[in-house]
Amino acid sequence: MTEPNTPYAWGSRLATIWQQMGMSFPINVSLIASEYTTRYPDPISKIKGHDVSGIEGMLIKRESKTDWVILYDATVEVPGRLNFTLAHELGHYFLHRHLFNEFKCGQDTLLDYESKNSRKREAEANKFAGYLLMPLDDFRKQIVGETVTLNLLSHCAKHYGTSLTATTLKWLEFTEEAAMLVVGRDDFICWSYPSPAARKLGAYLSPGSPVPDSAIERLNCGRLIDGINTNIRVAPGVWHSSQEAEESILLSDRYELAIFLVRFPLANFSNYDEEDVMDSFQFLSERSQGLNWKK
Ligand SMILES: [Zn+2]
Repeated sequence: MTEPNTPYAWGSRLATIWQQMGMSFPINVSLIASEYTTRYPDPISKIKGHDVSGIEGMLIKRESKTDWVILYDATVEVPGRLNFTLAHELGHYFLHRHLFNEFKCGQDTLLDYESKNSRKREAEANKFAGYLLMPLDDFRKQIVGETVTLNLLSHCAKHYGTSLTATTLKWLEFTEEAAMLVVGRDDFICWSYPSPAARKLGAYLSPGSPVPDSAIERLNCGRLIDGINTNIRVAPGVWHSSQEAEESILLSDRYELAIFLVRFPLANFSNYDEEDVMDSFQFLSERSQGLNWKK
C-alpha cells in the first residue's frame, strides 16, 4: 500500500487501522507511535516527559541510534492536551521527519514561528492530530440526532481524550450548521471561530469586542462555575445583528475563561455565496501563541 502524503490521509489511515483492530477510543497515541513506526528503519523508540519550560512537545532524532524520541511537557495537567501534543509530534514524524532532525513545539516559544513554512508545518501537524484523534465518521456517529451543545461536545472531548476547544473547532470545521465558538475573558472577547455556514452569515466577533450584556448576566448568576448551562434561545441583536441564536455557556474558573457555543438554527443561506474558508487547524495554529488554545 502506498504511503499517505497529506495530514488528512495519514491521520485518517491510522485512525481507520485503530478502529479496524477493534480498539476503543480514545486513541492511544503512544501505542501507535511505538508500534506502527517499527516498520521504518528510524522508528520512534521512546516517549517520555521533560521539564524544559515553554516547550510542550519535541520530536528529536538520536543520531547515535538512528531512532526518534518524543518528549512532552510532563507538568501540563489540562485534560486532553497531552494526547493532542503527542499526536502533533507524531504528525511531524510522518509528515516532516525527512526535513529536520528536531522539532520543538510550544504555545509561546515556537522557534522560527515567524516563517510561513514553519507555520504551515505546525498547521499540518495539528491537522494530522485532529484527524487521528477525532475521525469524522465516528464524530458524526457521536452527535447524530442530537442538538449540539457544549455538554455534548464535552462528552465527545472525553470520548476522544481531547480538549473541549480542539473538539469544538473540529466540529465547526465539518458541520453544516451555522454556529460559532466564542471565548471571552473579563467580559471581553478573546477570539471567535465560525463554522463555514456561520461565516457566510457574517457571524464573527473580533478580539476585544464586548461580550453581550445578557450573556454576562447569565455568567454572573452564579450557577455556572465548572458547570455547563443548557441551551437558551436569544434574540437577534445579541450574537448577530439579524439572527436569533441558541447559546450554551461553560465557565472555566481555572483560566477565568467563558466559553460560548452560539448556534443560528434559523439561518437561511440561500442568499450567500460560497467562499474559501480557513480550516480550523490552520486557525488553531495561528491562535497558538496564547489564549489557552488547547484548553
Ligand atoms: Zn509542531
